[in-house]
This record gives sequence, C-alpha cells and structure tokens, in this order.
Amino acid sequence: MGSSVLRSVWPRWLLMAGALISLVSCAGEVPTYQAQFYVFGTLVDITVVGAEPAKAEKAIAAINADFQRMNHEWHAWKPGPLTDLNKAIADGKSAPVIPSLIPIIKQSKVLYRKSDGLFNPAIGRLLNLWGFQADEPPNGPPPPRAVITDLVSKHPSMDDVEIRDGMLICDNPAVKLDFGAFAKGYAVDRAIDQLRAMGIKNAIVNAGGDLRAIGSHGDRPWKVGIRHPQGKGVLASLDVEGDESVFTSGNYERYREYEGVRYMHILDPRTGMPVQGVTSVTVIHDNGAVADAAATALVVAGPKEWHRIAKKMGIKYVMLVDETGTVYMNPRMAKRVVFTGPKPKVVLSAPL
Ligand code: AMP
Ligand code: MG
Repeated sequence: MGSSVLRSVWPRWLLMAGALISLVSCAGEVPTYQAQFYVFGTLVDITVVGAEPAKAEKAIAAINADFQRMNHEWHAWKPGPLTDLNKAIADGKSAPVIPSLIPIIKQSKVLYRKSDGLFNPAIGRLLNLWGFQADEPPNGPPPPRAVITDLVSKHPSMDDVEIRDGMLICDNPAVKLDFGAFAKGYAVDRAIDQLRAMGIKNAIVNAGGDLRAIGSHGDRPWKVGIRHPQGKGVLASLDVEGDESVFTSGNYERYREYEGVRYMHILDPRTGMPVQGVTSVTVIHDNGAVADAAATALVVAGPKEWHRIAKKMGIKYVMLVDETGTVYMNPRMAKRVVFTGPKPKVVLSAPL
C-alpha cells in the first residue's frame, strides 16, 4: 500500500455526495473526472480521463457500491459471510459460500501454491493472535511462543479448503480465512472490468496507493509514485501505460511495536512470526489480484528467496527494499524506476 499517483489536475467543480467527493477538471484539453471514497480501511481514488462526466460518475458510483458490498462480504473480523464461514470451519462443518467469495477462494488456492505457501490466506488465526485482525493497531508484548508454534504445527493451508457444489469443505479446523493480502487487488480488477464494460478506456483505480491503470492520462502515461519505506515522501516514480497494476506491501502500514521492536503485519506462515529485515516490496503485473498476492508473498520471501518465488508466480517486475535501505530489483524493473531522491544502493538480480 505504498505507492501513490502523482498528477496535476485543476479542479473546476467540487461535488460532495456522502462519502463520494468528485472533481471534474481539464488536464489540457482532456476532461478528467476524479472521485474518492473510503472502503477496505483506505481511501480509494478513481480518475477517469477522456470520458463524459455523467458516464464516469455513474461508473464510479457503481464501483463504490460494489466495493462497499465486497468489504462487508469479505471482512475478516466484522460479522458477515466470511466470519460465518470461518465459524463453520472451526466447528468442522461444511457451509455454503456466497458467490462473491468463490472466485477469491479459488484464485487464492492457485496463488498459495505458486508462492510455495508464502501467500497463505488460511493463517487468519495467527493474524488474530498477533492482533492484526482489528481496526486499531495492536500493542503490548508479542503472543506466547508456544501458542504460535502450536498454531503453525497445525499447518493451516489453502490446500485444506475445497469448494464443491457451492459448499466449502475444510477438514482442518485450524484454518481461518483472511483475504487482507489479496482482496484489494481482486476488487481493483473488478473495478477496471466495470469501467471497461462502460466503454471507459483511460482510468486509474488507486486503493490507498495500490492501483491498476488502463490507457493513459491524455497524451502522457500515468505517473505513479512509490512511497518511501521510511515514510519520507516518495522513493521513486514510474510510468504506467496500457493495463498494469502496481502493488506495494510494507512494514510501515500496520505493525505492533513493543520495547523498540517493530512487528510487521505480514507473517511468515512457516514460523508464524512477523517478517523481519524487509521494509517493502513493489510488484508490477497486469492483474491486480496477482500483484497484490505477490507483493505480500515476496515480503515473506525476502532478499534471499524473492527471485525464485517471483519467477514461480510469473512476476516480471519486482523492487524489494530491505531494512538497511538497499534496493533489490530485476533489470527490467530497474529500467522503469526513477529514484526521486539520492540513489540508494541497488542490487540487480538475474532477469526474471
Ligand atoms: P498486504 O498489504 O497486501 O501485504 O496485506 C497484508 C495483510 O495480509 C495483513 O494485514 C494480513 O491480514 C494478511 N497477511 C499477513 N501475512 C500474510 C501471508 N503470509 N499470507 C497471506 N496473508 C497475509
Ligand atoms: Mg498484498
């Protein structure tokens, strides 16, 4: 969640409608329509270029409604369809799955495998134990080691989960589904599909810095900024043109801090412990859901394993920043990234 769109627009009107703020502006001769709304715990910002404002407004209102519904249906701790499903799993019962969760579960199973289990949305119990299934950041000491080890020894995995005739079957009660690492990417893909279906060709859907863009911003590509992992402005920028997603996972988003140690919200499913040593990973991929899952998985993979896992997941652009500020990139990514401040130490990998 660390990138953001850099753009200059000149607002002409400001319309306020509930959570939806809409700006219509003209970047040069091209009409630009921008709206923001709050969902998935973040501000979603949509910009549409070169379409009629009425059409853009209608599309964005539909996306807002869709995102609010998904947020409810997929929420990992607020009572709703996913918490019901998790209760059934804990009770050893099969249960019907609502239609919107079926493709998420199916795609998660594939990405779980491709990431060698580093992207594992079945570890909801561990996330809960660490206090990351809450609106407020956790505080206090880390959970007892024995409880963590006990949960890890039960190997909650997406392989334990099957969908048959619309029913979820799971014979491992230690599984608790949490799609926090992936739902935003999946939702952003849906938004782009909706925009396209309405004939919109140039747009960017930016969910708190994680985004997917189509087309261009008038006669220039979309320019995307990648947030500095130490929270100091923008680390780098890159141009996005055509159909691409840029997703960043980092330890500055949510974490637990205790006695000077920062425990990040991304856990290594093999140990049940928060990842250490990695500050952020940025991934570019055409599909938002894959980019989202991969950014999370590559944080877990770290400097030693990111290249292998990225290859397995079919990712062609990766930038990993470690805790010392060293940047690891594949050569293709290095060609696109423009550092905005002093150039950090860069370690180039073999091509992906
Ligand atoms: P993201 O910002 O996309 O990297 O997602 C981070 C969120 O994913 C966390 O807040 C957790 O809810 C969840 N999560 C943490 N570790 C993992 C993991 N190894 N696999 C899948 N989901 C995870
Ligand atoms: Mg993710």
